[in-house]
Amino acid sequence: MPSEREIPLSRLLGAGSAKKLAAALGLETAGDLLDYFPRRYIQRGELTPISRLPLDEDATLLARVVKSSTRRMATRRGSITEVLVSDGFTDHGVDTISLTFFNGFQASRQLTPGTVAMFSGRVGRYKGRLQLTNPEYTLLDPEEDSGLTPEEIAGRPIPVYPASAKVTSWQIAKATGILVGQLDLEALADPLPERLRQKYRLPGLGDAYRMVHVPPTQEAWMLARQRFLYEEALVLQTALARRRIQHAQLPSRPSPARRGGILDAFDARLPFELTAGQRAVGEELAAELAEPHPMNRLLQGEVGSGKTVVALRAMLQVVDDGGQAALLAPTEVLAAQHCASIRRTLGPLVREGLLGADPDAPGVEVVLLTGSQSAGERKRALLAAASGQAGIVVGTHALLSEHVAFADLGLVVVDEQHRFGVEQRDALRAKSLATPHLLVMTATPIPRTVAMTVFGDLETSVLSELPAGRSPIATHVVGLAENPAWERRIWARAREEAEAGRQVYVVCPQIGESGEDEGDLEALDDATWGGGSLADNGSQAPPAASVAATTARLEEEEALAGVRIGSLHGRMDAAEKSASMESFATGTTQVLVATTVVEVGVDVPNATLMVILDADRFGIAQLHQLRGRVGRGGHPGTCLLVTSLEPGHPSRARLDAVAASTDGFVLAQKDLEQRREGDILGATQSGRRSTLRLLRVTRDTEVIERARQDAVEIVEEDPQLSSHAPLRNAIEAYLEPEKEVFLERG
Ligand code: ADP
Ligand code: MG
Repeated sequence: MPSEREIPLSRLLGAGSAKKLAAALGLETAGDLLDYFPRRYIQRGELTPISRLPLDEDATLLARVVKSSTRRMATRRGSITEVLVSDGFTDHGVDTISLTFFNGFQASRQLTPGTVAMFSGRVGRYKGRLQLTNPEYTLLDPEEDSGLTPEEIAGRPIPVYPASAKVTSWQIAKATGILVGQLDLEALADPLPERLRQKYRLPGLGDAYRMVHVPPTQEAWMLARQRFLYEEALVLQTALARRRIQHAQLPSRPSPARRGGILDAFDARLPFELTAGQRAVGEELAAELAEPHPMNRLLQGEVGSGKTVVALRAMLQVVDDGGQAALLAPTEVLAAQHCASIRRTLGPLVREGLLGADPDAPGVEVVLLTGSQSAGERKRALLAAASGQAGIVVGTHALLSEHVAFADLGLVVVDEQHRFGVEQRDALRAKSLATPHLLVMTATPIPRTVAMTVFGDLETSVLSELPAGRSPIATHVVGLAENPAWERRIWARAREEAEAGRQVYVVCPQIGESGEDEGDLEALDDATWGGGSLADNGSQAPPAASVAATTARLEEEEALAGVRIGSLHGRMDAAEKSASMESFATGTTQVLVATTVVEVGVDVPNATLMVILDADRFGIAQLHQLRGRVGRGGHPGTCLLVTSLEPGHPSRARLDAVAASTDGFVLAQKDLEQRREGDILGATQSGRRSTLRLLRVTRDTEVIERARQDAVEIVEEDPQLSSHAPLRNAIEAYLEPEKEVFLERG
């Protein structure tokens, strides 16, 4: 028997209305329309007669359009629509007011003489007369005889639906009114378990739909919204909890820690003490690696918090047990760097092939596998991975998609990458019979609710302290708009660093004059909450500093005469890139002009100054990441955020925020608040609604946390959800293929 939800709208509303709703909004069934929620409600208390409109306050009035005219603006582009309305409740005198719409194309078409609508907005004054500017309005159907007085209408909340030019909010409201009256809402299966519904005193599904679409009071729709919010959070968290629990039941290779192996030898020769955090996370990982089910963990830690050592120790535990570990970096440059630094850190524990190795001394073969290697090198590396001779294989993510075989892959570590989705996991699983343990590392702090929503199927660990002896980075905003002379000062400062034997990064938003930005960075930008150059300063913005032009300029700069300048960006070929990195790493290059390729993972401890040109082009998290590249070697670091924006420009607030705090979590939260939800969850560009319906990860923290706990309880008690059929169905509906995308980001 088809459920109430599947009843076609044509049967309930008549063919004409149904066709309109389908064409304009894609709503076909009763369920579609029930779930089409008002964007908001007009609820501004009583109607105010025009004669008593209070200046500078919000007011709602019910009025009829008397006349309307549209003209072009004299001094700017665009048009002004002026609409004169009358409310006809004349006590004495004034019963009309003028409404002004800037570029009010829709208003000019809809507000024709005779039209009745509810208007609300702030009452202002222009040329001595009261007016509303760009008021919100809801058209009321003049033919509709509701039998309600204007006061009664104004007393109940008016739902405002996301409308289109073809279907007005009013028409949608009429349709939902009919729907709610005709459907047997009590017959709908409620995804919320009764127990939880009662626990939180939430209305049942049928009542809630009524309260959303035809709310008698403000309290009613607010309560219904709470219910749907919680329902959404529960559906999502239950899906994640199931995934987590199912994944945790797959077989994997247990690698218990073995005494007297490479790990012990490594610990014995570590030149520093592990921080308490590194030890605690280390123990967590050691215990999980020993389990016969896959570890699935996200490790968050500030830049420089020492995640690599933690990961390396986990890899050595697996190697000690005879398994292999793979380390994946987002770019080839980083993969090569990681490989070099792991070899350096391991020192004599690195074994070079089988030749001449002392079979009794502990050691591990570490190989690099990238697309730009010579055919010979690559073949040797592939062979070492496939034969099991290489204990540690370092590469880019391509390692998973290419024809790389492992003899016994026990652990995969993914560095600086948020998106390590189901696809990649499947690729991983295909590499070995057992599912490898997975450790995803990120230096971009992820606010807790985002972690729970987007990475909800990973467990999370945090390294919150920096190793002792790290000097904090001093960050300053350098505003060239107010003080152009400071530019000189920056290069003088760079020279001082170079003369003191230190090194300097100069970061530019662009590679060349043509405005191309870091191509392979696109993916990275997405992967960090910080985002890339922000779209809103789009095409009118003057071109941002480029590596090419800046390098040329600095070579001419008097203050830097004799200082060795190099450059680095993603469009250089692999050989150039590594030569350039090498020359900076060894100190030959003193000032490196680069794009954000230096953002992630690049480690030159001797670098103490970072100059970020046109810093306003970067997001908060990205700036925070970038500055983490300096001050890593015991010398204090300085970061200069250079901008040509005027003080007070909204984008400068971002720079001030970065200068004011070095706490990544504080900054991540700020960043989150400034971004639209869709950016966070990666909503499709096509303008479809984002994956989350009502839930907002920035706002609904508590609901998400509660739902997560409830979901875990449900799934632990009833993993198949056999006694929660409506919830299970809701999960399936929620996770239609296109929507599943974001769950896969774990
Ligand atoms: P992350 O990857 O978290 O940004 P790294 O693992 O690259 O940080 O560590 C940054 C630097 O700190 C490295 O040079 C590393 O050797 C060093 N380091 C790591 N742990 C410690 C520690 N406990 N004490 C001192 N130095 C450390
Ligand atoms: Mg790192």
